[in-house]
Amino acid sequence: MKRYLKHATILKMDGTEPITDGGLCMENGIITYVGAHREDIQAEETIDMKGAIVMPAMANGHTHLPMTLMRSYADGHNLQDWLTNYIFPVEDRLTKEDIYWGSKLAMAELVAGGTVFFNDMYWMMEEVMRAAEESGLCGVVARSVVHPSDKEPIENSERVAEALRLLEICGRKNSNVKAALSVHAIYTNTEKALCYMSDLAKEHGALMHIHLSETLTENEDCLRQHGKTPTQYLDSLGFFQNPTIAAHGVFLNEEDLEILKKRGVVIVHNPDSNLKLGSGIAPLAQMLEKGIPVMLGTDGASSNNNLNMFEEMHLAAVVHNGAAQDPIRIGAYDALKMACRSDLLGFDSGQLLQGKRADIIAVDTSRPHFQPMLNPVSNLVYSAQGGDVQYVFSGGELLYRKGEFFKVDLEEIYYHVNNCVKRLYQ
Ligand SMILES: [Zn+2]
Repeated sequence: MKRYLKHATILKMDGTEPITDGGLCMENGIITYVGAHREDIQAEETIDMKGAIVMPAMANGHTHLPMTLMRSYADGHNLQDWLTNYIFPVEDRLTKEDIYWGSKLAMAELVAGGTVFFNDMYWMMEEVMRAAEESGLCGVVARSVVHPSDKEPIENSERVAEALRLLEICGRKNSNVKAALSVHAIYTNTEKALCYMSDLAKEHGALMHIHLSETLTENEDCLRQHGKTPTQYLDSLGFFQNPTIAAHGVFLNEEDLEILKKRGVVIVHNPDSNLKLGSGIAPLAQMLEKGIPVMLGTDGASSNNNLNMFEEMHLAAVVHNGAAQDPIRIGAYDALKMACRSDLLGFDSGQLLQGKRADIIAVDTSRPHFQPMLNPVSNLVYSAQGGDVQYVFSGGELLYRKGEFFKVDLEEIYYHVNNCVKRLYQ
């Protein structure tokens, strides 16, 4: 289907100035024209976007999507206490059905907030994949491997078998949901397990997803046990020989940043989760100065407690300024850019340019908090709300329009989620 969006303010996110009264044409899932509005463009559907900002669909770089089922459960704990005493016991009770409906709820929330891409780490990932495919989202799924003891050989681990099964399934399919490998973190895996998974990633050419230096405790324990920071420890194991996405990086020193830059590791900055769990404030400005590729992420909905990328953008753009007493520590454009890095997940997207995938959102600027429109980027980063998203296209397909979902049934999701929650917390 050929669609034309006219009279929009267009942010291509390629470093150029916004286009006022712009036009964007998409056909067969690809952007075929972007520039000044043209009266001569004919399409099957033309949408007047006057009063809207059209920009790339956002990419959530670090999620645990089924954790929507644990939203507003167990607030007010640090990471270790929260995981061990609250989250793990509920997670032990999760069934495939829970994973599926928790993911469906997450997909609806992502779409309504202008996010089409995600990078998820959890388990029973075939259910997450199914939910994403049905909902029209794109992303990367990985079975998070936890292997805290070598009593059971890692080779026999059912978790590893599930991770490999997922790679195999995705390899066979032509899907917008791809598989990666994942180890949860250094503190939940033995050295042998880390090396084994790293070798598997090399063998399969797979992307690796890990939590890295999320808390001071993680760093201090690692220094005590190995005499190295988590980054230096992983590097000494050859772990970064594979393309890696590392979530958090709250405690990174100069040497760590050097290693991450040299190895091409992508860092996902999750300001909301880091603040809520009292973990700390990541050295985002130093990462950007070094040239480390950075995405933004929400983490799971139990440590955030939503999947709203506008909030992450806003926090990324203001928290570091306050902490460093420097009002230009992180610029608004940089924050917006970090929210749109679907290219770092391997998709030909993230910028509105001819030939790219048509992953596009339109944000309503008619509400009071958007007026006046002196600077669209500034308004998006400092003033916008997730609820301002009006249109969402994924590969040219319309997923969402003004509160209406085209691929998911909210009532059905709420019904099943409520049943899951009743059983999980009875
Ligand atoms: Zn996480």
